[in-house]
Amino acid sequence: MNDPASDGFVHVRGAGEHNLKNVDVDVPRDAMVAFTGISGSGKSSLAFGTLYAEAQRRYFESVAPYARRLLQQVGAPHVQEISGLPPAVALQQRHGAPSSRSTVGTLTTLSNLLRILYSRAGTYPPGAPHLAAEAFSPNTAAGACPRCHGLGAVVDVADDLLVPDPSLSIREGAIAAWPGAWQGANLRSIVSNLGIDIDKPWRRLRKKDRDWLLHTDEQPSVLIAPEADRIDYGYHGTFWSARAHIMHVLADSKSERMRERALRFVRSVPCPECGGSGLRPEALAVTFAGRSIAEVNALPLTELVTVLRPVAEASGTGAATAAGASEETGEAAVRLCADLVARIEVLLGLGLGYLAPGRRSTTLSPGEAQRLRIATQLRSGLFGVVYVLDEPSAGLHPADAEPLLDVLDRLKAAGNTLFVVEHDMDVVRRADWVVDIGPGAGEDGGRVLYSGPVAGLEQVGESVTGRHLFGHAPPVEHRPREPQGWLELDGVTRHNLRDVSVGVPLGVLTAVTGVSGSGKSTLVTQVLAEVVRAHLGQGPDDAEDEAPEIGLRDASGLDSFDRLVRVDQRPIGRTPRSNLATYTGLFDAVRKLYAATDEARARGYSAGRFSFNVAEGRCGNCQGEGFVEVELLFLPGTYAPCPVCHGARYDAETLEVMYRGRNVADVLAMPVDEAAGFLADVPAAARSLETLREVGLGYLRLGQPATELSGGEAQRIKLATELQRARRGHALYLLDEPTAGLHPADIALLLRQLHRLVDAGNTVVLVEHDLDTIATADWIVDLGPGGGDAGGRVVAEGPPAKVAKSRRSATAPYLARRLA
Ligand code: ADP
Ligand code: ADP
Ligand code: ZN
Ligand code: ZN
Repeated sequence: MNDPASDGFVHVRGAGEHNLKNVDVDVPRDAMVAFTGISGSGKSSLAFGTLYAEAQRRYFESVAPYARRLLQQVGAPHVQEISGLPPAVALQQRHGAPSSRSTVGTLTTLSNLLRILYSRAGTYPPGAPHLAAEAFSPNTAAGACPRCHGLGAVVDVADDLLVPDPSLSIREGAIAAWPGAWQGANLRSIVSNLGIDIDKPWRRLRKKDRDWLLHTDEQPSVLIAPEADRIDYGYHGTFWSARAHIMHVLADSKSERMRERALRFVRSVPCPECGGSGLRPEALAVTFAGRSIAEVNALPLTELVTVLRPVAEASGTGAATAAGASEETGEAAVRLCADLVARIEVLLGLGLGYLAPGRRSTTLSPGEAQRLRIATQLRSGLFGVVYVLDEPSAGLHPADAEPLLDVLDRLKAAGNTLFVVEHDMDVVRRADWVVDIGPGAGEDGGRVLYSGPVAGLEQVGESVTGRHLFGHAPPVEHRPREPQGWLELDGVTRHNLRDVSVGVPLGVLTAVTGVSGSGKSTLVTQVLAEVVRAHLGQGPDDAEDEAPEIGLRDASGLDSFDRLVRVDQRPIGRTPRSNLATYTGLFDAVRKLYAATDEARARGYSAGRFSFNVAEGRCGNCQGEGFVEVELLFLPGTYAPCPVCHGARYDAETLEVMYRGRNVADVLAMPVDEAAGFLADVPAAARSLETLREVGLGYLRLGQPATELSGGEAQRIKLATELQRARRGHALYLLDEPTAGLHPADIALLLRQLHRLVDAGNTVVLVEHDLDTIATADWIVDLGPGGGDAGGRVVAEGPPAKVAKSRRSATAPYLARRLA
């Protein structure tokens, strides 16, 4: 008998994670293996939930036996046996929410090298001692700016927020930041006593007085005489400037409400002490090639490499021995610069040259972050490892996908195995082996339909993937539409967009295209969204969004919309407390249904009793979450099922109430497809369920927590919620890469729904890379030609057939091939 570990395959026996149906499959090592199937078929359950999870579990058991108990709580993957499995590294997109302190430089380890370079080979001011590498990091005590503690930003009051309406007088409440009621009247009396006119409009007070009132640290105490209607005794009142008041509340107040109010008057601004770098002045005084480390951190990689390359290419010994040569050309400098240049070149090859090392990772797209991590692995020198990747091509223009695939080939050539969950058929074609799961989603999936070399999949009649891979799938029907008018943006200036003018056609579907970093998101999800939102008077749709200067000379055609809807991939909630049923509103109907049963009425249970978000009715142990958070040493917060209610979320009494033989927890456990039958005669629920099925989400369970949904699923839930209330309308829908994470069959479903929205009179604008989707658009705006400073212009615009002929567009050649 063969030793299973030595035949070059990983053997999986009896995998049953999630919807997997007792799967047996053998996949080759030292190869690129694509896991395919429609959304919800079970690809991730096999690649991540089983193979990667098992590799992780073995690793933790080997390094930390004491973690075993905790791991048992989280649960080992549901599988009988896996053999031949090497250690695994996951390069996932949706996981590991980046911390606000990590940057492009820290993710790629470039920051470490730059710090060593400045420490050893920088030019110091005369007499200054050499600093350790940590002193160049804002994240260490040695390096952090004392004012902002290394954050690079401080919160400060802003005059325009403190005094939103300068035409008011102080008596009329010009200083909105001051407290109301007695304290407000007290401050007015004090100001008046100090000789400032409280009945003059704010803007007509002297600048000196205005500044003093808003910002002074002085706290003069004033004797206030009795006043009619206010106080009938005299007292000493103490003055607080608006800033002193707000800062005092933020620092000391125990009242959540007061703090929340105070936050309305502050903004995060670059730290005045360190200029936003987060570093101490001693570190900022050290230069290399005439620049401080903060300046170097702000350079796009394409420019940084031109600064470092001359040093890297200098002959180390010669320069070092030259009399009086500075450390900048010494041996250490040459070696470090050569290493930096080699690492940066990998990133340039992946089309990421427009990023600067100091760019915060929270502002990166998931695809950018994943490519950074992939590039970093390439230099790590690991071999004999399985890399499990989640759709590496997602969010990539076809022109950017090619260099990425080359990097994956290099990882493989270095002796590694690649397991890739993938939807892009061009990537699947390059794999050595494909494991296709299906045929459907959820209960209708979970079987391995095929495992073998790619070409063989054509013969598998059951496989939807096979049909798309070999061009046997029917195209999405669509007749081109004519614009019903135009929204014109004139002189847009933000990030790399400089004075761009662009027209967005109304009543049609527009795709905004271009390579990574060309400016698509800046144009669509930032500028366009903000302009329309401001015009409609809708507030930012997320408290985290700041409202910067819009950066626009003029706009017309804004009156054509009565609503702005952004359908993005952000989670529908951040805890297991939000789920599909609560988000779409259909759970309200379910709760009413249970409250109306005879049993509930006899017991006096109202609809509220059936909500796991109120105390009566829910499980006391997990407070209705169904899960408890487990602290694992190495892993970010992980959830395990509640040991009391076993995930049911409710207390035992509430679960005794039945409707057609099922309790409310049973309903939450149903997939949408099943619930559609069960709730067919509850109109409010039936409509929601129908639209969820139409966008291809019939396999999701109603109670599936927000934390278990992929970005693509979250996005389609939002879309379904929109569709269920869609009336004929004049809404502007903005979608950022709606096809990312979707199988071609799911893309076809989604496209039909988007075209339905347009047919109902709405305007749809997509940021998009998928060529099938771009080809069915009525209009294309192609940005570029490159990323960063090499992009930011409108390269081509018009219907697909016209854009495909453009000579300058990076999208054109791919589109032309698709349209042929
Ligand atoms: P794919 O990767 O093919 O989109 P998944 O493996 O994510 O599919 O999902 C397969 C099935 O397992 C789906 O029905 C999904 O709803 C379900 N599922 C996914 N994650 C979980 C989870 N953490 N708990 C329970 N069910 C899950
Ligand atoms: P795309 O969506 O086409 O990939 P983006 O609009 O995200 O492009 O980026 C366009 C340019 O603006 C790039 O050079 C990018 O580095 C820069 N950029 C994007 N977001 C930010 C940000 N939050 N801060 C600084 N620069 C940014
Ligand atoms: Zn600072
Ligand atoms: Zn519980």
